[in-house]
Amino acid sequence: MQLPAAPWSAEDIFQTLTTYRAQDLDWRDGRAWAYIYDAGPEVEAVAKRAYMEFLSENALDPTAFPSVLRLENELVALGARHLRGDAEVAGNFTSGGTESIVLACKTARDRTRALRPEVRRGRLALPVTAHAAFHKAAHYLDLAVDLFDVDPRTFQASPEAAARVLTEDTIMLVGSAPSYAHGVVDDIPGLAALARARGVLMHVDACVGGWMLPFLRRLGQAVPDFDFAVPGVTSISMDLHKYAYCPKGASLILYRDRDLRQHQLFACSNWTGYTIVNPTVLSTRSGGPMAAAWATLHFLGDPGYLRIAQAVREATVRVVEGIRAIPGLQVLGEPQMALVAAASDTDEVHIFHVIDEMKRLGWTLQPQLGWGPHKENFHLSLNASTAPRVDALLADLAVAVERARGLPSPVAGLGEGLGALDPATLPPELFGQILAALGVQGTALPERLAGIHAVLNSLPPHLADAFLTRFFNELYHHKAS
Ligand SMILES: *Cc1c(COP(=O)(O)O)cnc(C)c1O
Repeated sequence: MQLPAAPWSAEDIFQTLTTYRAQDLDWRDGRAWAYIYDAGPEVEAVAKRAYMEFLSENALDPTAFPSVLRLENELVALGARHLRGDAEVAGNFTSGGTESIVLACKTARDRTRALRPEVRRGRLALPVTAHAAFHKAAHYLDLAVDLFDVDPRTFQASPEAAARVLTEDTIMLVGSAPSYAHGVVDDIPGLAALARARGVLMHVDACVGGWMLPFLRRLGQAVPDFDFAVPGVTSISMDLHKYAYCPKGASLILYRDRDLRQHQLFACSNWTGYTIVNPTVLSTRSGGPMAAAWATLHFLGDPGYLRIAQAVREATVRVVEGIRAIPGLQVLGEPQMALVAAASDTDEVHIFHVIDEMKRLGWTLQPQLGWGPHKENFHLSLNASTAPRVDALLADLAVAVERARGLPSPVAGLGEGLGALDPATLPPELFGQILAALGVQGTALPERLAGIHAVLNSLPPHLADAFLTRFFNELYHHKAS
């Protein structure tokens, strides 16, 4: 790959870029039940115009661009009010849920360093349903993780289970509202009371639900308390690029007060360049995502979100009922918002085959691996653009389950023998050989992925992760064509 010897015309550039998208997921027809949150072309047009208008403005120095400082402060104030915070709540706009969560963990770590220097290595207490972003934060920030299991029927994290893993070195307890995997809200008041009694911080991961749940509450649904109205909740992450339908690169991290947020900030005068004062992980930050988020919130306004929340919730109820009526499938827990997980309830139907059959019928569902006693399953996220497709989805799902019923188990037995291996000592060729045995040629995946998912599912997590990072290390490498 090298720069062209002669510049390309704009026409050639855009034509070529269009061809690059040929294999992409076609998300505009409401058949992608993950990755995409789409409120329709009018919202998209307004958001993209605002995005382009602020694309070049830089939030690196808010004194040079007061416009982006104002956008960020207004978005934080809007989010704080939405989550029943008072005027003391402080926060920042970030690039996504992961950055919000990394910052919450960094804040907890540095607050502990300041107030409890005897803690050598801070620990996070996480339900197994907590998003992987917390594990990533622990990995980046050198924190330890103590996992506790959730109720096998409701998939909710309880304070009783959390209490068993708290230690002297715990710096923060986490609950989800709701969890991404199963769409259920943890017992946040119970968890927050425990955290408060033990003098640790309590983070609520409302990345996926923080925006939509308050609208559902206003529509009369019994939404459990999860926000700043709950004593003991010290920080909340809330993505705007999910159920606020803002373009990607939009999330908020909110803290109960500025004393706590102070630990998030980073300044550096210890080099020869300009003075750095960064509230977030990024330093140079485009104003585009902020302006686009601000525009989307104002364009849809309160009535827009209320209307979408109602339609999406009604569609979710129909999906849950519809899945329960399909023999061979089982809904996990009681989905409280717009995210649904379903597993097979019979040995005759393997859920990973169902995902493959649905893909052949044009639908994208997300596979989720099993964990301990919790079964592998598929995940659906409903949104404004998928809600009108519920009947078509359910009809095809019934077909896919019947087709899957005739297929042999994808668990080829490959996974079992691998469980005892240590990825650190595995010869690299072996990874390639195992991948080839699974039908992976170079980085080209086979049409059906059930076999691969079944093997990943049967491996201990650390080994599955070793395979996945090896594969992606190949994927992110330009191959001359
Ligand atoms: C999506 C999500 C995250 C991670 O957010 P990204 O924007 O993908 O980084 C974290 N927690 C929950 C509950 C989520 O749904």
